[in-house]
Amino acid sequence: MSKNKKPRILLVYTGGTIGMVKGADGALQPFDFENIISHIPEINMIDCHLSSYSFPVLLDSSNINPSSWIEIARVIEDNYYSYDGFVVLHGTDTMAYTTSALSFMFSGLEKPVIFTGSQLPIGHLRTDAKENLITAIELSSLTDDEGMPLIREVCLYFQHELYRGNRSTKINAEQFNAFASPNCPPLAHSGVHLSVNHQLLRKPSMSEFGVTTVLSTHILLLHIYPGMSIEMVKHLLSYEKLEGVILLTYGAGNAPTDEVFLSALEEKIASGIPVVNVTQCLKGSVSQGEYAVSQTLKEIGVISGVDMTKEAAITKMMYLLPRKRTMEEFRKLYVKDLRGEINTIKVK
Ligand code: ASP
Repeated sequence: MSKNKKPRILLVYTGGTIGMVKGADGALQPFDFENIISHIPEINMIDCHLSSYSFPVLLDSSNINPSSWIEIARVIEDNYYSYDGFVVLHGTDTMAYTTSALSFMFSGLEKPVIFTGSQLPIGHLRTDAKENLITAIELSSLTDDEGMPLIREVCLYFQHELYRGNRSTKINAEQFNAFASPNCPPLAHSGVHLSVNHQLLRKPSMSEFGVTTVLSTHILLLHIYPGMSIEMVKHLLSYEKLEGVILLTYGAGNAPTDEVFLSALEEKIASGIPVVNVTQCLKGSVSQGEYAVSQTLKEIGVISGVDMTKEAAITKMMYLLPRKRTMEEFRKLYVKDLRGEINTIKVK
Protein backbone atom coordinates (compact mmCIF):
# COMPACT_ATOMS: atom_id res chain seq x y z
CA MET A 1 0.00 0.00 0.00
CA SER A 2 1.40 3.44 -0.87
CA LYS A 3 1.70 6.01 1.94
CA ASN A 4 -1.24 8.19 0.97
CA LYS A 5 -3.72 5.57 -0.09
CA LYS A 6 -6.73 4.72 2.05
CA PRO A 7 -6.42 1.20 3.47
CA ARG A 8 -8.75 -1.44 2.07
CA ILE A 9 -10.39 -3.44 4.84
CA LEU A 10 -12.50 -6.56 4.45
CA LEU A 11 -15.16 -7.13 7.10
CA VAL A 12 -16.01 -10.81 7.49
CA TYR A 13 -19.25 -11.66 9.32
CA THR A 14 -19.52 -15.17 10.79
CA GLY A 15 -22.35 -14.60 13.31
CA GLY A 16 -22.38 -14.07 17.08
CA THR A 17 -24.37 -11.82 19.42
CA ILE A 18 -23.28 -8.68 17.58
CA GLY A 19 -25.77 -9.32 14.79
CA MET A 20 -28.36 -11.34 16.70
CA VAL A 21 -32.05 -10.61 17.11
CA LYS A 22 -34.63 -12.33 19.31
CA GLY A 23 -36.58 -15.16 17.65
CA ALA A 24 -40.26 -16.00 18.31
CA ASP A 25 -39.23 -18.01 21.39
CA GLY A 26 -37.31 -15.03 22.82
CA ALA A 27 -33.88 -16.67 22.31
CA LEU A 28 -31.13 -14.76 20.51
CA GLN A 29 -30.18 -16.09 17.09
CA PRO A 30 -27.88 -14.84 14.31
CA PHE A 31 -29.35 -12.36 11.82
CA ASP A 32 -28.17 -10.89 8.54
CA PHE A 33 -25.29 -8.53 7.89
CA GLU A 34 -27.43 -5.60 6.69
CA ASN A 35 -28.89 -5.47 10.19
CA ILE A 36 -25.44 -4.63 11.56
CA ILE A 37 -24.58 -2.01 8.97
CA SER A 38 -27.95 -0.26 9.18
CA HIS A 39 -27.40 0.28 12.92
CA ILE A 40 -24.00 1.81 12.50
CA PRO A 41 -23.93 4.50 9.80
CA GLU A 42 -20.80 5.99 11.45
CA ILE A 43 -18.88 3.17 9.82
CA ASN A 44 -18.80 5.18 6.59
CA MET A 45 -16.86 7.94 8.34
CA ILE A 46 -13.82 5.72 8.92
CA ASP A 47 -10.95 6.66 6.64
CA CYS A 48 -10.74 3.39 4.71
CA HIS A 49 -12.35 1.50 1.85
CA LEU A 50 -14.61 -1.04 3.51
CA SER A 51 -15.97 -4.16 1.82
CA SER A 52 -17.78 -7.05 3.42
CA TYR A 53 -18.27 -10.77 3.17
CA SER A 54 -20.96 -12.60 5.10
CA PHE A 55 -20.93 -16.34 5.86
CA PRO A 56 -23.83 -17.99 3.99
CA VAL A 57 -24.89 -19.67 7.25
CA LEU A 58 -24.45 -17.44 10.28
CA LEU A 59 -23.31 -19.15 13.45
CA ASP A 60 -23.59 -18.83 17.16
CA SER A 61 -19.92 -19.42 17.93
CA SER A 62 -20.77 -22.48 20.05
CA ASN A 63 -21.18 -24.19 16.69
CA ILE A 64 -17.85 -23.02 15.32
CA ASN A 65 -15.47 -25.92 14.63
CA PRO A 66 -12.27 -26.54 12.65
CA SER A 67 -14.17 -26.52 9.35
CA SER A 68 -15.43 -23.00 10.22
CA TRP A 69 -11.81 -21.98 10.96
CA ILE A 70 -10.85 -23.28 7.55
CA GLU A 71 -13.72 -21.34 5.97
CA ILE A 72 -12.56 -18.11 7.65
CA ALA A 73 -8.95 -18.81 6.68
CA ARG A 74 -9.96 -19.42 3.06
CA VAL A 75 -11.88 -16.13 2.85
CA ILE A 76 -8.79 -14.31 4.09
CA GLU A 77 -6.46 -16.29 1.82
CA ASP A 78 -8.63 -15.63 -1.26
CA ASN A 79 -8.66 -11.90 -0.52
CA TYR A 80 -5.21 -11.57 1.03
CA TYR A 81 -3.59 -9.54 -1.75
CA SER A 82 -6.67 -7.38 -2.44
CA TYR A 83 -6.94 -5.97 1.10
CA ASP A 84 -4.67 -4.33 3.68
CA GLY A 85 -6.48 -5.71 6.70
CA PHE A 86 -9.31 -7.94 7.89
CA VAL A 87 -11.89 -7.54 10.66
CA VAL A 88 -13.81 -10.67 11.58
CA LEU A 89 -17.12 -10.48 13.45
CA HIS A 90 -17.49 -13.61 15.58
CA GLY A 91 -19.41 -14.79 18.66
CA THR A 92 -17.53 -14.31 21.90
CA ASP A 93 -18.02 -17.82 23.30
CA THR A 94 -15.34 -19.47 21.18
CA MET A 95 -13.60 -16.39 19.76
CA ALA A 96 -10.35 -17.08 21.65
CA TYR A 97 -10.24 -20.63 20.24
CA THR A 98 -10.68 -19.27 16.71
CA THR A 99 -8.06 -16.54 17.10
CA SER A 100 -5.62 -19.09 18.57
CA ALA A 101 -6.28 -21.64 15.82
CA LEU A 102 -5.93 -19.10 13.00
CA SER A 103 -2.72 -17.72 14.46
CA PHE A 104 -1.16 -21.17 13.89
CA MET A 105 -2.92 -21.89 10.60
CA PHE A 106 -1.54 -18.71 8.99
CA SER A 107 2.17 -18.49 8.28
CA GLY A 108 3.97 -15.39 7.06
CA LEU A 109 0.97 -13.20 7.97
CA GLU A 110 1.87 -9.57 7.20
CA LYS A 111 -1.55 -7.99 7.69
CA PRO A 112 -3.93 -7.49 10.60
CA VAL A 113 -6.69 -10.04 11.18
CA ILE A 114 -8.69 -8.52 14.03
CA PHE A 115 -11.60 -10.39 15.60
CA THR A 116 -14.35 -8.64 17.50
CA GLY A 117 -17.96 -9.07 18.55
CA SER A 118 -20.11 -7.82 21.39
CA GLN A 119 -21.90 -8.75 24.57
CA LEU A 120 -25.12 -6.98 23.52
CA PRO A 121 -26.58 -7.10 19.99
CA ILE A 122 -26.05 -4.08 17.78
CA GLY A 123 -29.76 -3.21 17.95
CA HIS A 124 -29.64 -2.88 21.74
CA LEU A 125 -29.66 0.67 23.11
CA ARG A 126 -26.62 0.09 25.36
CA THR A 127 -24.75 -2.09 22.89
CA ASP A 128 -20.97 -2.42 23.06
CA ALA A 129 -20.94 -3.46 19.40
CA LYS A 130 -20.40 -0.01 17.90
CA GLU A 131 -17.23 0.86 19.76
CA ASN A 132 -15.82 -2.62 19.30
CA LEU A 133 -16.44 -2.67 15.58
CA ILE A 134 -15.39 0.91 14.81
CA THR A 135 -12.15 0.64 16.78
CA ALA A 136 -11.33 -2.79 15.34
CA ILE A 137 -11.60 -1.26 11.86
CA GLU A 138 -9.47 1.73 12.89
CA LEU A 139 -6.79 -0.54 14.35
CA SER A 140 -6.74 -2.68 11.23
CA SER A 141 -6.17 0.49 9.17
CA LEU A 142 -3.03 1.60 11.06
CA THR A 143 0.14 1.79 9.01
CA ASP A 144 3.83 2.20 9.81
CA ASP A 145 6.22 4.85 8.45
CA GLU A 146 6.55 2.94 5.17
CA GLY A 147 2.79 2.79 4.75
CA MET A 148 2.74 -0.94 5.55
CA PRO A 149 0.19 -2.51 7.95
CA LEU A 150 1.33 -1.88 11.51
CA ILE A 151 -0.31 -4.98 12.96
CA ARG A 152 0.74 -8.23 11.34
CA GLU A 153 -0.99 -10.92 13.33
CA VAL A 154 -4.28 -12.39 14.50
CA CYS A 155 -5.72 -10.22 17.28
CA LEU A 156 -8.85 -9.89 19.36
CA TYR A 157 -10.25 -6.43 20.08
CA PHE A 158 -12.77 -6.01 22.89
CA GLN A 159 -13.74 -3.25 25.31
CA HIS A 160 -10.84 -0.86 24.63
CA GLU A 161 -8.09 -3.50 24.47
CA LEU A 162 -6.34 -5.13 21.53
CA TYR A 163 -5.06 -8.55 22.58
CA ARG A 164 -2.83 -11.06 20.81
CA GLY A 165 -5.35 -13.64 19.60
CA ASN A 166 -3.52 -16.68 20.95
CA ARG A 167 -3.02 -15.07 24.38
CA SER A 168 -6.65 -14.20 24.98
CA THR A 169 -9.39 -16.03 26.82
CA LYS A 170 -13.05 -15.32 27.62
CA ILE A 171 -13.36 -14.47 31.31
CA ASN A 172 -16.74 -12.78 31.65
CA ALA A 173 -20.27 -13.69 30.56
CA GLU A 174 -21.79 -10.62 32.22
CA GLN A 175 -19.62 -7.51 31.87
CA PHE A 176 -18.51 -5.76 28.71
CA ASN A 177 -14.87 -6.68 29.36
CA ALA A 178 -15.44 -10.25 28.23
CA PHE A 179 -11.78 -11.06 27.50
CA ALA A 180 -8.39 -10.99 29.16
CA SER A 181 -4.85 -11.76 28.12
CA PRO A 182 -3.44 -12.81 31.49
CA ASN A 183 0.12 -13.58 30.41
CA CYS A 184 0.71 -10.93 27.75
CA PRO A 185 -0.08 -7.20 27.98
CA PRO A 186 -2.51 -5.70 25.46
CA LEU A 187 -0.94 -4.78 22.12
CA ALA A 188 -2.93 -1.56 22.01
CA HIS A 189 -5.38 0.39 24.14
CA SER A 190 -8.19 2.61 22.98
CA GLY A 191 -8.65 5.71 25.12
CA VAL A 192 -8.81 9.28 23.92
CA HIS A 193 -6.00 8.14 21.60
CA LEU A 194 -5.19 4.75 20.21
CA SER A 195 -1.97 3.85 22.00
CA VAL A 196 -0.01 1.00 20.51
CA ASN A 197 2.56 -1.02 22.45
CA HIS A 198 5.03 -1.10 19.54
CA GLN A 199 7.55 -3.31 21.33
CA LEU A 200 5.06 -6.15 21.60
CA LEU A 201 3.98 -6.16 17.96
CA ARG A 202 5.16 -9.06 15.82
CA LYS A 203 7.92 -8.16 13.42
CA PRO A 204 7.84 -8.94 9.66
CA SER A 205 8.24 -12.68 9.24
CA MET A 206 10.09 -12.68 5.89
CA SER A 207 8.32 -15.89 4.88
CA GLU A 208 5.61 -16.16 2.26
CA PHE A 209 1.96 -16.04 3.35
CA GLY A 210 0.35 -19.46 3.56
CA VAL A 211 -2.55 -21.30 5.18
CA THR A 212 -2.49 -24.74 6.76
CA THR A 213 -5.80 -26.54 6.96
CA VAL A 214 -4.82 -29.99 8.26
CA LEU A 215 -5.66 -30.21 11.95
CA SER A 216 -5.96 -33.12 14.40
CA THR A 217 -9.02 -33.23 16.61
CA HIS A 218 -8.71 -36.41 18.68
CA ILE A 219 -7.35 -34.55 21.67
CA LEU A 220 -8.36 -35.19 25.25
CA LEU A 221 -8.54 -32.13 27.51
CA LEU A 222 -8.41 -33.49 31.03
CA HIS A 223 -9.35 -31.00 33.74
CA ILE A 224 -7.95 -32.46 36.96
CA TYR A 225 -9.99 -32.15 40.16
CA PRO A 226 -9.78 -33.66 43.66
CA GLY A 227 -11.53 -37.03 43.69
CA MET A 228 -11.36 -37.54 39.92
CA SER A 229 -11.95 -41.21 39.13
CA ILE A 230 -8.70 -42.75 37.90
CA GLU A 231 -10.69 -45.61 36.43
CA MET A 232 -12.59 -43.11 34.29
CA VAL A 233 -9.33 -41.43 33.24
CA LYS A 234 -7.87 -44.79 32.20
CA HIS A 235 -10.99 -45.42 30.18
CA LEU A 236 -10.70 -42.06 28.41
CA LEU A 237 -7.02 -42.64 27.71
CA SER A 238 -7.79 -45.99 26.11
CA TYR A 239 -9.74 -44.37 23.22
CA GLU A 240 -8.14 -45.96 20.16
CA LYS A 241 -8.08 -42.77 18.02
CA LEU A 242 -6.50 -40.64 20.75
CA GLU A 243 -3.69 -38.46 19.33
CA GLY A 244 -2.80 -36.16 22.20
CA VAL A 245 -3.65 -35.21 25.78
CA ILE A 246 -3.71 -31.85 27.54
CA LEU A 247 -3.77 -31.97 31.32
CA LEU A 248 -5.31 -28.94 33.02
CA THR A 249 -3.35 -29.10 36.25
CA TYR A 250 -3.29 -27.22 39.54
CA GLY A 251 -1.14 -24.14 40.16
CA ALA A 252 2.38 -24.39 38.75
CA GLY A 253 1.58 -27.64 36.92
CA ASN A 254 0.82 -29.95 39.82
CA ALA A 255 -1.24 -33.14 39.74
CA PRO A 256 -2.06 -36.11 42.01
CA THR A 257 0.80 -38.57 42.39
CA ASP A 258 -1.48 -41.62 42.19
CA GLU A 259 0.68 -44.35 40.66
CA VAL A 260 -2.06 -45.81 38.48
CA PHE A 261 -2.74 -42.36 37.02
CA LEU A 262 0.94 -41.63 36.38
CA SER A 263 1.65 -45.01 34.83
CA ALA A 264 -1.41 -44.65 32.55
CA LEU A 265 0.09 -41.36 31.31
CA GLU A 266 3.55 -42.88 30.99
CA GLU A 267 2.16 -45.71 28.89
CA LYS A 268 0.49 -43.22 26.53
CA ILE A 269 3.67 -41.19 26.12
CA ALA A 270 5.67 -44.37 25.47
CA SER A 271 3.16 -45.28 22.74
CA GLY A 272 3.81 -41.92 20.99
CA ILE A 273 0.87 -39.88 22.34
CA PRO A 274 2.11 -36.48 23.57
CA VAL A 275 0.82 -35.28 26.94
CA VAL A 276 0.99 -31.53 27.69
CA ASN A 277 0.71 -29.78 31.05
CA VAL A 278 -1.25 -26.48 31.23
CA THR A 279 -2.31 -24.77 34.43
CA GLN A 280 -5.95 -24.29 35.44
CA CYS A 281 -4.92 -20.88 36.78
CA LEU A 282 -5.71 -17.88 34.65
CA LYS A 283 -2.32 -16.26 35.16
CA GLY A 284 1.19 -17.69 35.56
CA SER A 285 3.14 -20.59 34.25
CA VAL A 286 3.67 -24.32 34.57
CA SER A 287 6.99 -25.12 36.21
CA GLN A 288 7.38 -28.90 36.33
CA GLY A 289 9.66 -30.00 39.14
CA GLU A 290 9.11 -26.94 41.31
CA TYR A 291 6.99 -29.11 43.61
CA ALA A 292 7.48 -32.83 44.27
CA VAL A 293 3.96 -33.41 42.90
CA SER A 294 5.01 -32.35 39.39
CA GLN A 295 8.43 -34.02 39.39
CA THR A 296 7.19 -37.37 38.04
CA LEU A 297 5.21 -35.66 35.27
CA LYS A 298 8.50 -34.20 34.07
CA GLU A 299 10.32 -37.52 34.44
CA ILE A 300 7.81 -39.49 32.39
CA GLY A 301 8.02 -36.96 29.55
CA VAL A 302 4.97 -34.72 30.03
CA ILE A 303 5.57 -31.55 27.98
CA SER A 304 5.25 -28.20 29.74
CA GLY A 305 2.64 -25.89 28.23
CA VAL A 306 4.43 -23.08 30.12
CA ASP A 307 2.14 -20.00 30.22
CA MET A 308 -0.13 -20.82 27.30
CA THR A 309 -3.88 -20.43 27.54
CA LYS A 310 -5.86 -23.65 27.18
CA GLU A 311 -7.14 -22.30 23.85
CA ALA A 312 -3.60 -21.86 22.54
CA ALA A 313 -2.48 -25.22 24.00
CA ILE A 314 -5.28 -27.13 22.28
CA THR A 315 -5.06 -25.42 18.91
CA LYS A 316 -1.25 -25.60 18.87
CA MET A 317 -1.56 -29.33 19.43
CA MET A 318 -4.21 -29.59 16.68
CA TYR A 319 -1.80 -27.80 14.35
CA LEU A 320 1.37 -29.68 15.28
CA LEU A 321 0.08 -33.26 15.56
CA PRO A 322 -0.35 -33.81 11.81
CA ARG A 323 3.23 -32.56 11.34
CA LYS A 324 4.67 -34.79 14.04
CA ARG A 325 7.33 -37.26 12.99
CA THR A 326 8.95 -38.10 16.31
CA MET A 327 7.96 -37.29 19.86
CA GLU A 328 11.19 -35.33 20.29
CA GLU A 329 10.46 -33.19 17.26
CA PHE A 330 6.94 -32.55 18.55
CA ARG A 331 8.25 -31.58 21.98
CA LYS A 332 10.75 -29.12 20.49
CA LEU A 333 8.13 -27.44 18.34
CA TYR A 334 5.54 -27.42 21.08
CA VAL A 335 7.69 -25.44 23.50
CA LYS A 336 8.94 -23.14 20.76
CA ASP A 337 7.47 -19.67 20.27
CA LEU A 338 5.68 -20.06 16.93
CA ARG A 339 3.33 -17.05 16.97
CA GLY A 340 3.94 -15.22 20.24
CA GLU A 341 1.80 -17.70 22.20
CA ILE A 342 4.38 -18.80 24.79
CA ASN A 343 7.10 -17.35 26.97
CA THR A 344 10.02 -19.60 26.09
CA ILE A 345 12.22 -18.30 28.89
CA LYS A 346 10.00 -20.16 31.33
CA VAL A 347 10.09 -23.67 29.77
CA LYS A 348 10.28 -26.31 32.58
N1 ASP B 1 -23.40 -17.28 22.10
C1 ASP B 1 -22.83 -16.13 21.46
C2 ASP B 1 -21.77 -16.59 20.49
O1 ASP B 1 -20.70 -16.92 20.91
C3 ASP B 1 -22.25 -15.20 22.49
C4 ASP B 1 -21.65 -13.93 21.94
O2 ASP B 1 -21.46 -13.72 20.75
O3 ASP B 1 -21.32 -13.05 22.76
O4 ASP B 1 -22.01 -16.65 19.31
